[in-house]
Amino acid sequence: MKVGIVGWRGMVGSVLLQRMQQEGDFALIDPVFFSTSQAGQTAPAMGQTTTTLLDATDLTALAAMDVVITCQGGGYTNDIHPALRDSGWDGYWIDAASSLRMQDASTIILDPVNRDVIDRALSGGKRDFIGGNCTVSLMMMAMAGLFREGLIDWISAMTYQAASGAGARAMLELVEQMGHLHGIVADSLASADASAIEVDAALTSAMHSAGFPVQECGAPLAGSLIPWIDADLGQGQSREEWKAQAECNKMIGRDPSQPLVVDGICVRVGAMRCHSQALTVKLVRDVPLAEIESILASGNEWVKVVGNSRDESIPFLSPAAVSGTPSVAIGRLRKMGMGPEYVSAFTVGDQLLWGAAEPLRRMLRILIER
Ligand code: NAP
Repeated sequence: MKVGIVGWRGMVGSVLLQRMQQEGDFALIDPVFFSTSQAGQTAPAMGQTTTTLLDATDLTALAAMDVVITCQGGGYTNDIHPALRDSGWDGYWIDAASSLRMQDASTIILDPVNRDVIDRALSGGKRDFIGGNCTVSLMMMAMAGLFREGLIDWISAMTYQAASGAGARAMLELVEQMGHLHGIVADSLASADASAIEVDAALTSAMHSAGFPVQECGAPLAGSLIPWIDADLGQGQSREEWKAQAECNKMIGRDPSQPLVVDGICVRVGAMRCHSQALTVKLVRDVPLAEIESILASGNEWVKVVGNSRDESIPFLSPAAVSGTPSVAIGRLRKMGMGPEYVSAFTVGDQLLWGAAEPLRRMLRILIER
C-alpha cells in the first residue's frame, strides 16, 4: 500500500510519525513523504523506497498513492483535495484538518467510539476519513460507555484547553510568557522576605505592558486564560463551541433531525498539551453512581475512571499527570444538586494523541487490515 504522508513535520504530524514508529506501522506500508516547502530534500528514513521529499502540490505524484494522510492544515486540504478528486483519484484521504469534516462524503473517525460508523462508510464506498476536533474526540473517548448505553440526554462541556491546540508556535509562546513573567520578579523571589502582593503587582503590570509576547496567543495565557477559541460565529458562540454538538452527532451517526445537545464555553488555559473539560451530564434516567462508573470504565481500554476523592483527583486527574500518555482520565463523578439524573464529571486527555494523531494512524491500520 503506497501511503503519501503530508504535514509530517508539524505538531500533529510529528506525533503521528512517533506513534507509527512505536506501533510498527511503517513495516506494513510503502510510505512516500511530501512537503509543501522542502520538496527534493531528504525524507525521514522509514525504510521506504522514495527517499526524497515529493512536492505536496503535485497532483500526479499524489494520485499515485493508495492513501494520502495529511496533517498539513485546512488551507492545504481546501486547495488539493477537490483538485485531486476532480482528477479521478479514488484513493483514501485521511485528514487532521477540519475542512472536510461536516461534508456528506466524509466520515469523522474515532474508532473506539464509532467503528460501526467507519465500517458502514467503508462498505458504502466512502473514501474521506477525517479526524474529529480534539476536544470533541477526547470527550467522546471519556464518555464512550454512556453514549453506547444511550443514557445521555444532554451534555454541558466547559473546557480548559491546552496551548498545543493552537499549534506549535502557541506552545512556545506560552513558555516564553512564563519566562518573561519569572524574569521580572526573579530578584524579588530570591529574597527571603519576598512579598506576594508586590510580585503580583509586577506581574499584572507586565501582562498589561506593550512588550509582553502575545503574537501567537493574542493575549496573556501564562498567569491568565483566554475565554474564546476559534472564530466568532456571530450569535454568541465560538466555532469551537459549535463543533461540540455538530461533530459529536455526526461521529455517532445520529439522526440530524434529533440531535443530542452538547454545548458549553471553550477556554484556553496555560496547559501544554492536555485538554480538560468539566461536564454536566443530564442522563435520560436516574442511574446509580456505581453503575455509571462501571459503564464509563467499560467504554474502551484507554478510559481511566478516577475515584472522586481529593487523594485521587489531585495526583491522577490533571494535565501534568496525563500528558504524553494514551489514557483519557475521567473523575469528579457525583450526582449534582439539580436532581438524580444530573452527574458531574471532569475529564483530561492528551490532545495530540487521541485528540489528533491516534485516530488517523488507527484509520490507516483499519485500511491495511481490510
Ligand atoms: P503545524 O504545527 O503548524 O504544522 C503544519 C505544517 O507547517 C507542517 O507540516 C510544515 O509543512 C509547516 N511548517 C512550516 N514551518 C514549520 C516548522 N518550523 N516546524 C514544523 N512545521 C513547519 O500544524 P499542526 O498543529 O500540526 O496542525 C495541522 C492540522 O491538524 C491543522 O489543520 C489543525 O487544525 C489540525 N489539528 C490540529 C490539532 C492540534 O492539536 N494542533 C488537533 C487536531 C487537528 P511543510 O513541511 O510542508 O512545510
